[in-house]
Amino acid sequence: MDYLPIFIQLHGSPAVVVGGGNVALRKVDLLLKAGARVTVIAPKLHDDLRALAVRGQLDYIAREFQTHHLDGTSLVIAATDSREVNAAVSKAAKARRLPINVVDDPELSTFIFPAIIDRSPVVVAVGSSGQSPVLARRVRQQIEALLPARLGALARFVGDRRNEVKRALAPAQRRPFWERIIGGIVGSRVLAGDEHDANAKFLDELASLDKLLNTGPAADEGRLGEVYLIGAGPGDPDLLTLRAVQLLQQADVILYDRLVSDAVLERARRDAQRIFVGKETGGDHHATQARIHELLVHYAKRGLRVARLKGGDPFIFGRGGEEIEALTAHGVPYVVVPGITAALGAAASAGIPLTHRRLAQSVTFAAGHALDDDTLDWRSLGLPHHTVVFYMGVAQLPRIVARLTEAGASLDHPAALVERGSLADQRVIRGTLGTIVELARAYDVQPPALLIVGEVASLAKGDNDVLAAVDAARRPASEPV
Ligand code: SAH
Repeated sequence: MDYLPIFIQLHGSPAVVVGGGNVALRKVDLLLKAGARVTVIAPKLHDDLRALAVRGQLDYIAREFQTHHLDGTSLVIAATDSREVNAAVSKAAKARRLPINVVDDPELSTFIFPAIIDRSPVVVAVGSSGQSPVLARRVRQQIEALLPARLGALARFVGDRRNEVKRALAPAQRRPFWERIIGGIVGSRVLAGDEHDANAKFLDELASLDKLLNTGPAADEGRLGEVYLIGAGPGDPDLLTLRAVQLLQQADVILYDRLVSDAVLERARRDAQRIFVGKETGGDHHATQARIHELLVHYAKRGLRVARLKGGDPFIFGRGGEEIEALTAHGVPYVVVPGITAALGAAASAGIPLTHRRLAQSVTFAAGHALDDDTLDWRSLGLPHHTVVFYMGVAQLPRIVARLTEAGASLDHPAALVERGSLADQRVIRGTLGTIVELARAYDVQPPALLIVGEVASLAKGDNDVLAAVDAARRPASEPV
């Protein structure tokens, strides 16, 4: 290890920054954040630094650097564009045994700045020992994606209660207690922004701990887990939300649907138990759904963190509503994490803007499978300047098209099918209400697919157009078109 990572407390300590440009500004910002008393030494000053000086947030010495400027300080940064000046600052600092950083010059420095993630009071620092700051920043980005935005709030929540727990628990009991608080429902409530509820649950845990200590581990059985209802998006794992990934990383059990791709499951905790609960077409959907409710409640009641992973968004044709009713009925706490619904994912990757200043002022998401008792207003769905996206409509495609045209939509009205939207083998079939049924048959479109109807569908880049163009190019010129 070339450098020892440490965190230095600088509240009220003097620090000198030599240089008055952009780079100096960045370092001054950091030092001020850490509460240092900053003196900037430079003949000329960046406007923002000048503003800080005017507001009295830093001291400014409008001079070339001289060694006596370092008298009485505790830390030095050289950020000038002259290596000569930087070297002189470095030499003077080293002679006084002061920590010195020369920006982008590890040779002249005794300490270097890491790339940081600031979720104060939690701070993550990543360094490459000066070898590659760009690489360190990339590592930081990867870690950052895994850290909840409210991590700082959780640290403060715990910090505020440390003394209380210290008083209540013996040293050996504290660590497991905090593990449980941070990794369990109290932690996820704080991270979800509900500190009020978190506090109530924290007090419950503290109270039930007495019971636990007195009666032994059997009492642990009654401990409640929780359910994360997570939208898995349309299939491409990069379209998961950050919160979805964070919760997938901590879940003990994962219940997933048929529409959840393997690539998405790859992002979940390795040792989590995975249970497939997809509904087979033609199976008894009602029974399957009841079974899912049972499983969710069963695992949560055993104190586990259960991720219920659903394709797209849990609240768009996903029966998420019924699942939270079941959870509420059994007093099981839950968190809902929205996902990118298939319509949005497929539209994006097919190049179809669902609304458009000229072509569509409104959009409807409709279910296309239960047409016998539907309540859809077919006339308005087929109007110009309106987009409608049918989910679960492949099998019913001829009936959907017939309903729209009977209600007045023209046969020229554009329509597109997006099969396996956002996945590597996505196909887009572009046509009109007059042609789409035939095209679907010709290209053997299979679920999962969406039907998008409206003028915007004409903007799709259809794979059938590409194939047709290839065909046309192959056709001999004499053949009638
Ligand atoms: N909750 C999901 C929808 C579930 S209903 C969501 O928000 O996306 C299932 C229907 O979604 C499928 O029949 C199909 O119409 C659509 N669907 C899901 N994933 C899709 C994908 N990758 N491409 C196209 N359609 C998809």
